[in-house]
Amino acid sequence: MTSEQGAVQKDHGGKLAIALAYPNTYWVGMSNLGLHTLYRALNRHPGIVCERFFTDHPRSVESGRPLSDFPVIAFSVSYELDWINVVRILMDNKIELTAARRTGAIVIAGGAAVTMNPEPACRILDICFLGDGEGAAEMLHEAYASSSSRAEFFDRLEGRDGIYLPARFNPAEAGGESSPPRLSVVDPLDTPARSAVLTKDTAFGDMFLVETARGCPYHCKFCTARAIYAPFRPVPVEAILPVLDEVKASGLKLGLVSTSLNSHPQAAELYAGIMARGLAIAPPSLRFGMITPELLEHIRLSKVKGVTLAPETGSEDLRRSIGKPIPNQTILMDIERLIASGIRDIKLYCMVGLPGETPADTDATIDLIKRIRQGFIKVSRGNRIIGTLAVNINTFVPKPHSTFERAPMITVGEAKERIKRLAKGLAGTSNVQVSFEGPKWAYLQAVIARGDRDVFDLIHLLARYSENRWQEMLRAWPRNPDYYALRQWDEDEPLPWGFY
Ligand code: SF4
Repeated sequence: MTSEQGAVQKDHGGKLAIALAYPNTYWVGMSNLGLHTLYRALNRHPGIVCERFFTDHPRSVESGRPLSDFPVIAFSVSYELDWINVVRILMDNKIELTAARRTGAIVIAGGAAVTMNPEPACRILDICFLGDGEGAAEMLHEAYASSSSRAEFFDRLEGRDGIYLPARFNPAEAGGESSPPRLSVVDPLDTPARSAVLTKDTAFGDMFLVETARGCPYHCKFCTARAIYAPFRPVPVEAILPVLDEVKASGLKLGLVSTSLNSHPQAAELYAGIMARGLAIAPPSLRFGMITPELLEHIRLSKVKGVTLAPETGSEDLRRSIGKPIPNQTILMDIERLIASGIRDIKLYCMVGLPGETPADTDATIDLIKRIRQGFIKVSRGNRIIGTLAVNINTFVPKPHSTFERAPMITVGEAKERIKRLAKGLAGTSNVQVSFEGPKWAYLQAVIARGDRDVFDLIHLLARYSENRWQEMLRAWPRNPDYYALRQWDEDEPLPWGFY
């Protein structure tokens, strides 16, 4: 690990000590703006000391203390498969897994995977935190400081926004003693989430990340972001400008975080503020059809070399049916304008297995990528440098709270066939690099994403054995994993996550 700037060292005396555990490596965790936001919010509270743990840092980064020194362990879980590491971390630290039997540390989890569907991990969690975590520090401290027992602590938290106590509410048993939880929503966002600890040892090592808006104004049917981060909340530019001064002082690039940068109603003022400070920007994933002349000018001035965009598919009809009505002509024009602004490398995200997809749609993706390549080469020649066109192919996973939450997923075998068809269609196309995420991980992700409390037994099996035995573990699990991943769920069928 390289040196850090901004890590907080606090005396533990008389404070609530919270272990903030990211169930993946330091590199992955420190690339996550949510973790930075929570670390800042918890440590800002005078009555709390918060220290970080990662899978490759089993003792705290700040003081080297073991996890067992902390009365509260808060996991930040962004990705469903990271539940496996949550279980491993608890087992490695000899912490009782079953929440109902645990008497020591209180185990909490928050983050995107929790807000999407906490049910698969409910058996091991005392508290699930649903939604925005900024307000959690005051709530936790207040309840902890005024409680003399675990039960009283939970009593004091019960009913607060974002708090879900799985021991007191079970959707599979028509609820329970308490009312359904509500998402915690910080609205308006008065101040932008931003990097709390600067380190080179992340995917964004040369950047200072600043969130310009939370939520999304669009409605792609496969995406859960719109629902779990609703409503779309742009941070006022007046609140972003002072943070830009911090970025300038850091000497780093400005890494803008937003689902749609140009949807910010004050985008022009934001760009003017960035330009006035002479900051170089690193834009987030860009949305086709939203690439304005101002943004292109910033890309040119900032000498941005690579951008990421997601056409999803080459078929206009399929793209429209998934809620992304962007014509291929717009995609082709946007790519050429980006290259003309100095971009060298383009990364495209596409999917296989989208509901309603046919072999002709896969062929349309091959055709679109080839047409993108033609424009890419043509304009790149004018720049006297030809970069890389990278195409990343993912398998569609039906996600809770998305429009497609009940849709079936294709089998691993079918996903492999479709990826093979794409790769073959693009084989030998110079300057195009094709990569894909293994469909088996997408399948496991779907089983866990749409899981209920019974799915925990599978997570537990996967945690106890090596990853390459995943198929054996699926066979050892008494439930049928296809039941969760592959079928079309009936419209009137209750959803494990359908209670909030
Ligand atoms: S895929 Fe992106 S643009 Fe579409 S709804 Fe999700 S966050 Fe918004």
